[in-house]
Amino acid sequence: MPAPELGEAWRLAREPAPIRHLDAAAAARTSRTVIAAMTDYLLAETTTGAYIALEAAAETLTGGRAVLAGLLDPALTAADVAYHHSASDAFAALVEAWPLPRGARVGVVPSAFASNLLTLQARAVRDGLELVDLPVLADGLIDVDALARGDGPAALSELDLVTFPEVPSQRGTVQPTAAVAALCRDAGVPVLLDVAQSLGQIDVTAAGATGGIAAYVGTSRKWLCGPRGAGFLAVRPEFVDRLAAPSPSGYNSGWQPRQDGRAGGQGGAGPAGTAGTRPSALTDGRIVPAAGMTRFHLGEAPVAAQVGFAAALAELAAAGPALVRERLHALGAAARRRLDGVAGWRIGEDVATPTAIVTLLPPPGLDPAVVRSRLYAEHGVLTTAIGADRARDAVPALRVSPHVYNTLAEVDHLAEALAQVSRQP
Ligand SMILES: *Cc1c(COP(=O)(O)O)cnc(C)c1O
Repeated sequence: MPAPELGEAWRLAREPAPIRHLDAAAAARTSRTVIAAMTDYLLAETTTGAYIALEAAAETLTGGRAVLAGLLDPALTAADVAYHHSASDAFAALVEAWPLPRGARVGVVPSAFASNLLTLQARAVRDGLELVDLPVLADGLIDVDALARGDGPAALSELDLVTFPEVPSQRGTVQPTAAVAALCRDAGVPVLLDVAQSLGQIDVTAAGATGGIAAYVGTSRKWLCGPRGAGFLAVRPEFVDRLAAPSPSGYNSGWQPRQDGRAGGQGGAGPAGTAGTRPSALTDGRIVPAAGMTRFHLGEAPVAAQVGFAAALAELAAAGPALVRERLHALGAAARRRLDGVAGWRIGEDVATPTAIVTLLPPPGLDPAVVRSRLYAEHGVLTTAIGADRARDAVPALRVSPHVYNTLAEVDHLAEALAQVSRQP
C-alpha cells in the first residue's frame, strides 16, 4: 500500500472511532484540526463579534479557494471560486444563472446525480429546454468516438451545454473528462462539470487544462475531508460575465433603472398609480449582477463550515494531493480484490479503476439496504446502500469507500462481516 506514513498521520490526526468508517463517498472523517478550526471560529463569533471574526478569517477562506482553484484548472485563481452550501445548491445556482434560451439543448448522461437532473428538468419544463443523453458505453462512460463522430440527437453541434459527474455517486468509474472537454471546446459547447465525487480522488486539472470546462461544482464533506454544510462552484474568468445572478439580493446584485428618461411608463407622464398597464418606476429597469463570482455570493452562510473546509483543504495541500490520490487508488483496487466474490457479492466496476469507490452487487435474495444496516449494527462497519433512485442508471448495491486513513485490516473486517451477514439472512 503506497504512502503508509500518510495513512498513519491522517489516522492519528482523527479522533479514535469505535466503528470502521468505510464511507468517504458519503461523508469522510474530519480531522481534529478541522474541528478545532470550526469551534475556534464559533468562539470568535461570540467573543469578538461575528463580522470581526469574518474579517479575521478572510485570509483562511481565500486560502481554501486558492487550493480549490489549483486542484481544478490551471486557468483559475481564488477569485474564480466561491463557497456555496453544497454541490447540489451550487449546481442549481449555475443552472439558474446559465444563458439558455427557449429551445436550448443540454447534453446529460444516465449516471447524472438525480438531484442535478431534477434541477435541469425543472428549468427545462419552465423555459422550454431539451435534455438529451450523450452517447455512452455499457459501463455508463461517455463514448468519446461516437461523440467525436457527432451524429444523432446529441451531436455537439446541436448542444448549448454539456454537464455530467466526472465520477458518479453509484459506481467507481471515471469519465474520460479531458477527451470530452477537448471535443466540447472545439465545438464551442461549454461544460459544467460535477466534481463532487472526483475532486480529491482524480487529477481534475487534466480536464481543466483543455480549457473546455466552463464551470465546476463540488462539495466539502466527501473526498476533501471537510465538514458538512459547505460546497463550492468555480467558473473560468472569461465565462463568468455571461452568467446572470441566480438569486438576486443585496449581497450579489444591483438595480439599474431604465436610462432613457422613460422610467415610470410610456411617455413618463401621469401621476403614479393611475395607469395600471404602465410599468412602475420600481420595475422599469434591470438586475445587474455584481462583478465576477460575487454574483454567487450567498449573504448569510455557515461561515464556520467554510472555515473548516478551508482547513481541510490546507491539510490536503500539505499532504500532497498526488500522494493522496495514489493511496486512494491503491486502497480501492485492494478492496475490490478482497471483496469480489465474498458470499456471492460481485464488484460493480473494473478492479483497477482509479477511485476508492467500491460497489458490490448483491447475490440473489439479498437487499443492500438491509445488509448495510446489519453491517453497522452487528459489526460496526459503516458503508452506504445505493438505491435505484440515485441516478437513472443506478442499481441496488453496497458502496464501500475507504479514505487514506483506512487500513486493509478494516477492509478484511468488512469482508468477514459481509460473509457472516450474507450467510445468515
Ligand atoms: C454527493 C453528490 C452530489 C451532491 O453533493 P451535495 O453536496 O450533497 O449537494 C452531486 N453529485 C455527485 C456525483 C455526488 O456524489
